[in-house]
Amino acid sequence: MSNSVTVAENNAVMTTYTRFPITLTEGKGSFVWDDQGAKYLDYTAGIATCNLGHRPATVQAAVEEQLNKLWHCSNLYHIPKQDQLAELLVDQTCFDQVFFANSGAEANEGAIKLARRYAHKIKQTDQFEIVTFTDSFHGRTLATMSATGQPKIQDGYAPHMPGFRYARYNDEKEFAQLIQPKTIAVMLELVQGEGGVIPADQAWVDQLVTLCRQHGVLIIVDEIQTGMGRLGSLFAYQQYGFEPDIMTVAKGLASGFPVGAVLAKADISTALTPGSHGSTFGGNPLAMSAGLATLAHICEPAFFESVSKQQQYLWQQLNVLAEQAEDIVEIRGSGFLIGIKVSTKAIDYVNKARAAGLLILVAGPQVIRILPPLNTTKQEIDQACKILNALFLKNEVDNY
Ligand SMILES: *Cc1c(COP(=O)(O)O)cnc(C)c1O
Repeated sequence: MSNSVTVAENNAVMTTYTRFPITLTEGKGSFVWDDQGAKYLDYTAGIATCNLGHRPATVQAAVEEQLNKLWHCSNLYHIPKQDQLAELLVDQTCFDQVFFANSGAEANEGAIKLARRYAHKIKQTDQFEIVTFTDSFHGRTLATMSATGQPKIQDGYAPHMPGFRYARYNDEKEFAQLIQPKTIAVMLELVQGEGGVIPADQAWVDQLVTLCRQHGVLIIVDEIQTGMGRLGSLFAYQQYGFEPDIMTVAKGLASGFPVGAVLAKADISTALTPGSHGSTFGGNPLAMSAGLATLAHICEPAFFESVSKQQQYLWQQLNVLAEQAEDIVEIRGSGFLIGIKVSTKAIDYVNKARAAGLLILVAGPQVIRILPPLNTTKQEIDQACKILNALFLKNEVDNY
């Protein structure tokens, strides 16, 4: 192939993504630079993945140290950092055991398999159905796509994996039909991310939990986007005041190093026995070193104090903007998972913000999604808000 092919024309990579027309080549903290040297404030955080910003020093040092020791050895051998990261996760949550995978979808696959195996091996039933919700997002593998309650994600991939049924999110009217004889689990995001930044109502969650407990149905929370501090607590369920049976984590767990995890209560996780599940890369020493350093940083005692302060500050600024901006319908979400619903096209704001030096995302056609790194500063928030104010109030965007 000719080496004059530009990035945009190169079609050796399958076209599964619509890419923004810039190429990022460097990142540090809350900022990234493109191949033309332009600097951007990155309020996408790699889609809620670089929760400590780009190349956080403690994580980089931990990975560098591990790079000089052992990269990979397979799960045929003991991997001490797996034990350490699992212990830290268990210490910080209501769960007892962890399985490590490499991505969010793979973690959700593990959770689905665990729920089925628990039903078959421990409860000794042949039930298998998992209820998920409209506008959910659980991943792109065949099973997690089938679990995802969005027809556009499933288009063209029939037949779907059997064993999923969808209920309307935040809708108490569904409760009468929600749990049926075949149902073994419900699976939900506590704030739907990809589906449009939609938080679960506390009262709806309370009733859902009560219903599941009454029927002995497992609750699986997908905290792939909401977890690792994004909502101002380590995990979202901790704010909703209940203990799920199974939780999945990925995105922010290792600051951008691919990793996923399934956490479960001991009575459930014992359904997995040697040979029943596995992964070649899952829990490898490099990923574990990145995960350990990331989680240790987030679990430092004062960490959430400063995060909450900045989260409150950003919400305050955005609420002021929302009062003035005609195009803003609603600001919703929680912590640093923020959706701005507009009456026009969200992507137009995303493109204009990028031209002004601010990277943000959409979550559906009318929702702008803002995902700052957790350790962003007041000064950076001011910079982002200055750009957003200029875009919404139609002033000139200054050169910052
Ligand atoms: C991103 C995401 C996934 C899928 O994670 P991948 O690492 O892309 O497989 C699943 N669930 C939720 C809630 C997500 O935000």
